[in-house]
Amino acid sequence: MQTGHEELWKQVFGEGHPVLVKKQRRFLKWPNDPRCKLCYAPFAGFGGFLVRLTGLMPSDRNPHYCNKCDGFLQAFPGGAEVEMTVLILDIRGSVDLSGRISPRQFAETVNRMREITSAVLAENRGFILEFQGDSVVAVFPPGFTGEDHAEMGISAARSILEQSLTVQGTDEPLSIGIGVHTGPVYICTVTAAGGNMQGVSVFGQNVNFVARLSAAATAGQALVSPETFAAAGMEMPRQDTIEVDLKGIEGTSSAVLLS
Ligand SMILES: [Zn+2]
Repeated sequence: MQTGHEELWKQVFGEGHPVLVKKQRRFLKWPNDPRCKLCYAPFAGFGGFLVRLTGLMPSDRNPHYCNKCDGFLQAFPGGAEVEMTVLILDIRGSVDLSGRISPRQFAETVNRMREITSAVLAENRGFILEFQGDSVVAVFPPGFTGEDHAEMGISAARSILEQSLTVQGTDEPLSIGIGVHTGPVYICTVTAAGGNMQGVSVFGQNVNFVARLSAAATAGQALVSPETFAAAGMEMPRQDTIEVDLKGIEGTSSAVLLS
């Protein structure tokens, strides 16, 4: 977790940095995925060919970012507290699942789940943080997603639930649970072990809260916090509002159940 350059990161994730936003808008019109996580420069297809002509390419030590954005992360380590929507999803019963299928089948199942959910998250203008085991953590910072970040988080959760994720090589549905919450988090650059790989991560009570929500959702469900509905300017649908006991958090919390 790194600190420093707070104004810069507040602008990048909170309001949108004018230079970066301009790049993102231009690059999104160019094919194809995968893209740089920060500026959306395409790495494949015709768009990938075009950006290479301008000297942009995937960074060799940090393949989720282009060489210029990787340079930017290295040059300006730090972070800021920004209010945003966070979505965490993970595979239910993954210990049991990994005991029933081959390691290869399990790896393929997780990869396929990541591919499908990454596409949905990208459509909803989410920023996917480093993949952690069998879960996916995505943030919707206003500087990237826009002022409608909370609606986008809800829409991404709905859309992920509509995907037919299965255990690779079988018809067995893959059980996942999702949590969505909105609040201030500390978003910052992080350095992975070895010191070469730079990434972006989030910290704070609100991150713990969404992880607890995600854990409380049963298979095929998403739990969305009242804060997300409030930030979206939406009424909580009363028939779908439930009280949940979250591990490590005192008292019950209400949440909207999507399924
Ligand atoms: Zn980039």
